[in-house]
Amino acid sequence: MLRGRVGLTGPAEHSRRCPTSAEGIGGPFTIRFVTIRAVIFDWGGTLTPWHTVDHEALWRGVCGQHFPERADALAAAIWAAELGLWQATGDTRASATLDQVFDRAGLVPTEAFLASYFEAWDPHTFTDPEVPPLLRDLRERGLRVGVLSNTMWPRSAHERVFARDDVLGLIDGAVYSSEIPWAKPHPKAFLAAMAAVGVDDPGACVFVGDRPYDDVHGAKRVGMRAVLIPNSDVPPFESAAPDAVITRLSELPRHLDTW
Ligand SMILES: [Mg+2]
Repeated sequence: MLRGRVGLTGPAEHSRRCPTSAEGIGGPFTIRFVTIRAVIFDWGGTLTPWHTVDHEALWRGVCGQHFPERADALAAAIWAAELGLWQATGDTRASATLDQVFDRAGLVPTEAFLASYFEAWDPHTFTDPEVPPLLRDLRERGLRVGVLSNTMWPRSAHERVFARDDVLGLIDGAVYSSEIPWAKPHPKAFLAAMAAVGVDDPGACVFVGDRPYDDVHGAKRVGMRAVLIPNSDVPPFESAAPDAVITRLSELPRHLDTW
């Protein structure tokens, strides 16, 4: 349900006048009904179940394989660089990359080092078993399936995970913030995800994510519907009101049925 989008028309939508608001906001105003054409998912904590990971310990393990004589110091430097870049993303919405992490840490990683790093993540990246049947259902409904992830990883790392879990072919378009200048909740990140799935109307998109600020607030701000799948480690953002809250992905279709 969108407010304040008076005058937008199109073949897949219609509007009605509301004399009063059922949600505490004064009318009259126009509510716009739009056929949903795409569902775009966050990745970490959404398509893949949330894992609490000790990042510095993970780096220490990788560094121990390749630089055993200075593993602790190098891991600390890499983690400090990564944390600093994530904090900068939180402050500015500018995206960051693993290359920037290594540059800050003064490391030129080998292919073997990178392979070890991504292997170390393997136990934490398994796709929720409810995802393949859900994505097939969405595609059978004629919906486009997208992914928008705040990530420093390159596309190849994400596609390896999706291919491993047999879902890569079920995704019509994906945007990884490492490939664009912005991260969620910057509106341009959401617009890039819409372009990736070939939909130009945010009102025809549903965004599903686990972060009230980055995902729900960000999606709502550009005019998408937003579904929250909460996990306990993500901070709340009280003013982000999702259109639905689900506890597991298999609950999504019954909400789509009402839209
Ligand atoms: Mg997430």
